[in-house]
Amino acid sequence: MSQLHHLECPECGRSRPADALSTVCEPCDSPLLARYDLDRAKTELDRDATAGLPATMWRWRELLPVRDPSRIVSLGEGGTPTLEAPRLAARLGVRRLFIKDEGRNPTGTFKSRGMAAAVSRAAELGVKGFVVPTAGNAGGALAAYAARAGLSAHVFMPDDAPPANRLEVERAGAGLHLVKGLISDAGREAARMARETGLFDVSTLKEPYRLEGKKTMGFEIALDLGWTLPDVIVYPTGGGTGLIGIWKAIDEMSRLGWIGSERPRMVAVQAEGCAPVVRAFRGGLDRCEFAAGARTLAAGLRVPKPYADRLILRTLRESGGTALTVTDEEMIRTREAAAACEGLQVCLEGAAALAALPPLAASGWLRPGERILCLNTGTSLKDLA
Ligand SMILES: *Cc1c(COP(=O)(O)O)cnc(C)c1O
Ligand SMILES: [Zn+2]
Repeated sequence: MSQLHHLECPECGRSRPADALSTVCEPCDSPLLARYDLDRAKTELDRDATAGLPATMWRWRELLPVRDPSRIVSLGEGGTPTLEAPRLAARLGVRRLFIKDEGRNPTGTFKSRGMAAAVSRAAELGVKGFVVPTAGNAGGALAAYAARAGLSAHVFMPDDAPPANRLEVERAGAGLHLVKGLISDAGREAARMARETGLFDVSTLKEPYRLEGKKTMGFEIALDLGWTLPDVIVYPTGGGTGLIGIWKAIDEMSRLGWIGSERPRMVAVQAEGCAPVVRAFRGGLDRCEFAAGARTLAAGLRVPKPYADRLILRTLRESGGTALTVTDEEMIRTREAAAACEGLQVCLEGAAALAALPPLAASGWLRPGERILCLNTGTSLKDLA
């Protein structure tokens, strides 16, 4: 049974009931976070027993928001492997490299996890249809899970979004709306349709539950590493959902007594042509400035101003982490290296995380022998352009 207890604004601390459909804390302009009764979960949930359940993210359903398990909308998301990559590690100048391969998810990226959680929960709360602005993969995932739930979806994406994303949305029967400009422009159009039609907007971190799906990556990383954590987790950051989610999972696992006090340093990697988080981190700011003219081939990183900027920056600082950029050329070269060294078809965003390792190792920020985990957030097979 879900131990979901209430929703909380991380800025003003106010709590709200979890069983009403919720979006954001308007006065604070902040996402809402799901809070669980972890004391109760601690007595009812056995860490090692969860490991024996079928390998999907729903093995942690007590720590996910869906009340009635029969309402779970699933395509088998989660349970992706964490692979050690020694040959690629040597190429990138580090010793112990692990890659969590999110390309194995049903829609080819980790967006499956977030949308499975958000669609399941919203449907449970009575929502009949959805809108989403997306760089591409969130739209594909929404279209898939809405279809699976028998509900409608409208997807707003920049007109230069990858062809695979347009196709997957259309095939799943969702409405495809191509918008001139960036994901921020798509966001305005999606919000307008939501206002006019009453469809539910599942924009990144503008409802509380995509984050909950993505946090399961944190549980799995610990499980995959024998209930230990790596020294460093490197995350290709667009909206930041996975970065915040993994950090949230670590906090929950620690309160549940599943892990000790060790914490990974969290690293946000962005593209040279779109790096609002890196700029704010370096500048000591707690919010990002809009990155005008955002440009990168890595569509998932083309987010000029993440809504959850404060939470992203707090996570980086609290964890003793850092933020850095890589170029598109470095991503492309590293994508080839991952395939040639390990047979792993990583997406450009995943390649960005890997491409951050040589500079971090050369500067001494990574210490020799540290265990480094990079998220490969999707398969490169969605990007044949
Ligand atoms: C969305 C996306 C990202 C960025 O994820 P956030 O959690 O929004 O930062 C990275 N890689 C891929 C493939 C994506 O689709
Ligand atoms: Zn608030």
